[in-house]
Amino acid sequence: MTPGADESAGDTALPVRGPAMRLLPRLEPENEFFWTSGADGKLRFLRCRSCQTYVHPPAPRCPECLAADLAPEVVSGRATLVAYTCNVQEWIPGSGPYLIGLVAIEEDERVRLTTNLVDVAIEDVRTGMAVDVVFDQHDDVYLPLFRPATGVRA
Ligand SMILES: [Zn+2]
Repeated sequence: MTPGADESAGDTALPVRGPAMRLLPRLEPENEFFWTSGADGKLRFLRCRSCQTYVHPPAPRCPECLAADLAPEVVSGRATLVAYTCNVQEWIPGSGPYLIGLVAIEEDERVRLTTNLVDVAIEDVRTGMAVDVVFDQHDDVYLPLFRPATGVRA
């Protein structure tokens, strides 16, 4: 949809997709697994094999027990929205409003990602809502974004 094509609907009533242009992360040996993880549709975080702590952002050692025995591990992709804001400033020409969210993963609420919320109308967003990961692919980079969870979550 082109900007201004339907002013009567109001921008905020539309499901948002995120900014019109993205700055992609630079892949480094320690973070490449994270940014390419979505190739198989799964989200991964480093986890300490000694004390089971999830470690994010990626680090060479576990901050809890200092072990260096960390390996990427698949998580459910389910998370809870902790906080959000709506960006309305048109930093990038053509960008409509989009949502920036902070989500805590189901496996450990201390592990949080700053991300974009997609497939949701701005007025339907609430802190505490259940969200699921969805990946936005740009070449070999899969950005983990989140959308409202489908189905009933136990
Ligand atoms: Zn540890």
